[in-house]
Amino acid sequence: MTRFIFITGGVVSSLGKGLAAAALGALLQARGFSVRLRKLDPYLNVDPGTMSPYQHGEVYVTDDGAETDLDLGHYERFTGVASRQSDNITTGRIYSNVIAKERRGDYLGATVQVIPHVTDAIKEFVTADVADTDFLLCEIGGTVGDIESLPFLEAIRQLGNELGRERALFVHLTLLPWIPSAGELKTKPTQHSVQELQSVGIQPSILLCRSDRDMPAAARRKIGLFCNIREEAVIPALDASTIYEVPLQYHEAGFDREVLRHFGLAPQAERAPELGRWHEIVRRIKSPEGEVQIAVVGKYTNLLDAYKSLAEALTHGGIANNVRVRLNWLESEQFESGAPGAFDALDGAHGILVPGGFGERGAEGKIAAVRYARERQVPYFGICFGMQMAVIEAARSLCGISMANSSEFGPTPEPIVGLLTEWVRGNMVERRGNEDNKGGTMRLGAYDCLLKPGSHVRDIYGAATIRERHRHRYEVNINYKERLERAGLSFSGMSPDGDLPEIVEIPGHPWFVGVQFHPELKSKPFDPHPLFTSFIRAAVVQSRLV
Ligand code: GLN
Repeated sequence: MTRFIFITGGVVSSLGKGLAAAALGALLQARGFSVRLRKLDPYLNVDPGTMSPYQHGEVYVTDDGAETDLDLGHYERFTGVASRQSDNITTGRIYSNVIAKERRGDYLGATVQVIPHVTDAIKEFVTADVADTDFLLCEIGGTVGDIESLPFLEAIRQLGNELGRERALFVHLTLLPWIPSAGELKTKPTQHSVQELQSVGIQPSILLCRSDRDMPAAARRKIGLFCNIREEAVIPALDASTIYEVPLQYHEAGFDREVLRHFGLAPQAERAPELGRWHEIVRRIKSPEGEVQIAVVGKYTNLLDAYKSLAEALTHGGIANNVRVRLNWLESEQFESGAPGAFDALDGAHGILVPGGFGERGAEGKIAAVRYARERQVPYFGICFGMQMAVIEAARSLCGISMANSSEFGPTPEPIVGLLTEWVRGNMVERRGNEDNKGGTMRLGAYDCLLKPGSHVRDIYGAATIRERHRHRYEVNINYKERLERAGLSFSGMSPDGDLPEIVEIPGHPWFVGVQFHPELKSKPFDPHPLFTSFIRAAVVQSRLV
């Protein structure tokens, strides 16, 4: 029997509902339960794939090729449960499904309405494909009171009724702001937010109250009284120094105990969860034995959500090596001037990383950063766009192909990186054209890759075949492979049919690896990705040299 936990948020956005859901998932797992996490997003895009990283932060890609909200990344990192297409839905997708059904005639005769047709479609999504999962955690995006979230709230209200208290729980996350002039944490916004939820028929049973300092007992009592919630179910959620401490803090505050009590699982609530691995992760983050500096040369560096998984994966590499990883986010355009001192910002870096990216702006600066890393023997990690720029740099500097470029930036006589129009997925050939729709048409999701015997990556992975997640439209052009290899760039990972370059490396360089996929999406604090572990180890070696 699957129990459903719905997590809503109020007062302000960005309170960390996604993290709260992920941390609760980890706590339930630590008590031996199986979990799945899902997210309902209120916006009208069918998926976040077409949104700018400035708007929405990173697009998280699943094994089955869905472009999803970045919160799904938190879910996977905290629970290790691989997310699927069926774990993230938007208002846009719900409506486009409902309208497609209407056109097919599936509702023939009926007036199609938000209630019941849209709400039914939402309920179907929430309850689908959960067989033998103990707990389904479902986060509702946005803030209570938004016009867009109303159909979602109505759908989960109905589900609460249908499933009954023993199978459904509503958790609400709010903020207690500190007002310096009053010297108090204020409870009024929380009261209003709960009233807003009650006005759509939802009574939360647990409140998570974010604050930057301890909640006094009187405030807890007051919130319980005014919000119609047992005092012990008003859970303080203090700011944490690392996100990986959140499960431990929640447990201390009694969150998982209250969840189990709600479901009548009192005996399980009294047993202690197995939190050893979380203690160990937090210990390593808080007391590292050294520190390395990694320069991340990108374009969206003023919005760190755009590189969420990347920053986490680098932290995981630090956990594996017992060092703190300091990230220096650098706008790539600064390396385009060629002025004296332009590269000073890279001087202290023990590793340089060029992450995924799109479009021409800043590309030459990234190529310049690759060149710096290659020539000065600084560990270099290129991810997706960062791999493509590394290959262009090698073509220009090592093969003398001065016009080498990517057709992403317009027509070029030397398309070292070109539009991918056809590729193999399982037994199928997928085809795309230049004029195709932009949404959901990239090479997406997990693909196999064969590693060359004797290569650096073969050694790093300790395996001959790997499977990693992709999200790109362009691809390194196989026609240049031989020339590049003769010049010293090794194609050490290829698609199984041998057509698509997946990994390049430079033998003899301390650490120079470019990958066409996104390894950061699969890294976890308790299972750091081998490429990040190895890259940070190389940075540690580098830090002893400089
Ligand atoms: N813009 C490049 C492409 O579409 C790289 C994409 C990425 O880095 N995710 O191929």
